[in-house]
Amino acid sequence: MTTQHALPSYLNPEDLGPWGQYLKQIDRVTPHLGNLSRWVETLKRPKRILTVDVPIERDDGSIAHYEGYRVQHNMSRGPGKGGVRFHQDVTLSEVMALSAWMTVKNAAVNVPYGGAKGGIRVDPKTLSRGELQRLTRRYTSEISLIIGPNKDIPAPDVNTNEQVMAWMMDSYAMIEGNLSTGVVTGKPISLGGSLGRREATGRGVFVVGQAAAAKRGVAIQGARVAIQGFGNVGGVAATMFADAGAKVIAVQDHTGTVVHSNGLDVAQLHKHVAETGGVKGFPGIEQFMDRDAFWGIESDILIPAALEQQITAANAPLIRTKIILEGANGPTTPEADDILSDKDILIVPDVLANAGGVTVSYFEWVQDFSSFFWSEDEINARLTRIMQDAFNAVWDVSQDKKVTLRTATFILACTRVLQAREVRGLYP
Ligand code: GLU
Repeated sequence: MTTQHALPSYLNPEDLGPWGQYLKQIDRVTPHLGNLSRWVETLKRPKRILTVDVPIERDDGSIAHYEGYRVQHNMSRGPGKGGVRFHQDVTLSEVMALSAWMTVKNAAVNVPYGGAKGGIRVDPKTLSRGELQRLTRRYTSEISLIIGPNKDIPAPDVNTNEQVMAWMMDSYAMIEGNLSTGVVTGKPISLGGSLGRREATGRGVFVVGQAAAAKRGVAIQGARVAIQGFGNVGGVAATMFADAGAKVIAVQDHTGTVVHSNGLDVAQLHKHVAETGGVKGFPGIEQFMDRDAFWGIESDILIPAALEQQITAANAPLIRTKIILEGANGPTTPEADDILSDKDILIVPDVLANAGGVTVSYFEWVQDFSSFFWSEDEINARLTRIMQDAFNAVWDVSQDKKVTLRTATFILACTRVLQAREVRGLYP
């Protein structure tokens, strides 16, 4: 029995944001955890939440303040691990949920990490390069109390990249007085980054996509693929599916939606996005369409690879696809999950489908510690094996227990986390 006291307001079980979505997912796995369910409350409370003020001097001489977070959800299996997001809609509820999904994801692919996540509520497009660097460095300094190569290891997420990781590493090195390459992953290759890291999340989505397609009898050759998001996840997945003979028939990003029933030229689309900042205005396409209509496009594989809570009870009934690969974190609400499984759509959940990124982050961290760097072929082969093994293990649990792949992934992952919790015991 867990003794219950009134919950602090930020742990509101009625939360309608991503944290509430995560809590509902935990409620669904709890009946499958056997005796370990006595520890389940530990998954409903982040271990440590840090909110920081991040002031910077703007180029025009004014002072601006931004709110930043680092949440360490669970560290039973190892140090915290998870990205840092710069986005104008970042909230504590969101960062808490993202940190919890990292706990589940890291356990699902069995990398020796707990879960953590960070973010700053800022639209980085409004900042100059110098302002972005000052913001990153000040944020790193504020969270330096709780991060470290054996404590908590940040990485890129939405709107953060190799350059931001380089600034974070440099700031941490200045504060600590030594070069700690293992404090962040997703770094530039010249600074201890790993080959294959940039493509790793998209590659992992593709690998589990192949596995799911085989189970569903969908041939990748000629498969119609629709993708929301054309960044580091959606853009890479698009290229991999197109190279394997699939037709990328629709892509939506924050600028618009482009559709071509015979398949878009993905290489040309990448060029267009690099030049103009988005898919809008891509020449030679059959049609543009309004945002919501995207969900009604008939496809074989649908890849939400943008932000959370995109597939909801409102648009799930419109969806006509066979397989959903969640490249984004938390794109599907629990209500939408139910609607889609009633329609017999196979959902490969975020905590499995997009785990390729953190898997190669783990390889990067191991390489940094040993100062011995692997070839790209070796990295891709190991990544592929881990993703395939994780998919197969989840598939077997889902068949055995007659649950969705999401619940099956949570069963496997939460069991690992809570076994570690139980065997460690409570301190003091
Ligand atoms: N931000 C990525 C994720 O959501 C990667 C995290 C990492 O590499 O630590 O999985």
